[in-house]
Amino acid sequence: MKIGFIGLGNMGNPMAANLIQAGYHLKVFDVNPDNMDPFAKLGAELSRSSKEIGEECNIIITMLPNAAAVESAIIGESGLIHCVQEGSIVMDMSSSSPISTKKIGSSLAAKGVCMVDAPVSGGVKGAREGTLSILLGGRQEDVAAVTPILQVLGQKLIHVGELGSGHTVKALNNLLTATTLLATSEAMVAGVKFGVDPNKMLEAINSSSGSSFSSLHKFPKILDRNFDVGFTIDLMYKDLGIAMEIADSVEVPTFLGSNVRHFWGFAVGQGGGRWDHTAIVKFVEKWAGI
Ligand code: NAD
Repeated sequence: MKIGFIGLGNMGNPMAANLIQAGYHLKVFDVNPDNMDPFAKLGAELSRSSKEIGEECNIIITMLPNAAAVESAIIGESGLIHCVQEGSIVMDMSSSSPISTKKIGSSLAAKGVCMVDAPVSGGVKGAREGTLSILLGGRQEDVAAVTPILQVLGQKLIHVGELGSGHTVKALNNLLTATTLLATSEAMVAGVKFGVDPNKMLEAINSSSGSSFSSLHKFPKILDRNFDVGFTIDLMYKDLGIAMEIADSVEVPTFLGSNVRHFWGFAVGQGGGRWDHTAIVKFVEKWAGI
């Protein structure tokens, strides 16, 4: 078995490295050649294109920023679909759009190639430590075929449903994360401006009904002015777009979600797209005048 790995950024780099460490034979590709350099030393083969990955690998993992990049790598003009071997499995671990994923899956199925969506939660730390939560969409037999690989990358594997279900739940989960992070930012900034000690306030929230993953795990670092989780505001805004696309497609109103998305989009417009997503609090502080 040869695994092809496309996309060696913040997440893809440690994930691919963990697979090599576990003894898998990898061929890797990234449009940024600098991101491939470390993999020659680790013993992986370097590829010149997604097509080359398609030609030579029978399990192909993509870990790319968004649906446009996933479509380009798989079904684009120079995508792997043009030379992928029948019977291969393509597994998209990016946080992508389930609508795009279903379209890619149909194109691949026409070539006798299966697709699984397997987005992750747990951040760069989880990717490094192999402790990601992995949300799976696809046929039972395809999920079973990729499970040994996924057990290297993650601790918790949840088969949510048919192709696209993993991406659906991932985007909606991030809608919740973006909401609790922003709501906690507004509450904390208001409390601090009113004169409350931030550490005491966070301790109180984390022992009370307003606590969340954001307050418990992200705010302690935010109070230390440590913004290094490794997930950008750009990527969160992209996920919020996917969440709204999902809700719109089934006519679910998102009074709260669409406002949350506007806030993150405003942060992108103000030049914060490359900042860590936890730095969203800085925009609340700025507009609060502190
Ligand atoms: P990143 O921007 O650091 O890495 C993406 C990589 O893909 C880059 O190296 C880029 O050069 C490469 N790339 C882009 N287009 C390409 C193409 N067409 N062909 C080949 N390579 C291409 O992003 P990341 O933080 O690693 O995130 C990857 C995915 O994982 C995103 O969908 C993100 O939403 C999701 N995710 C990220 C985190 C996190 O904490 N960073 C957590 C969970 C999920």
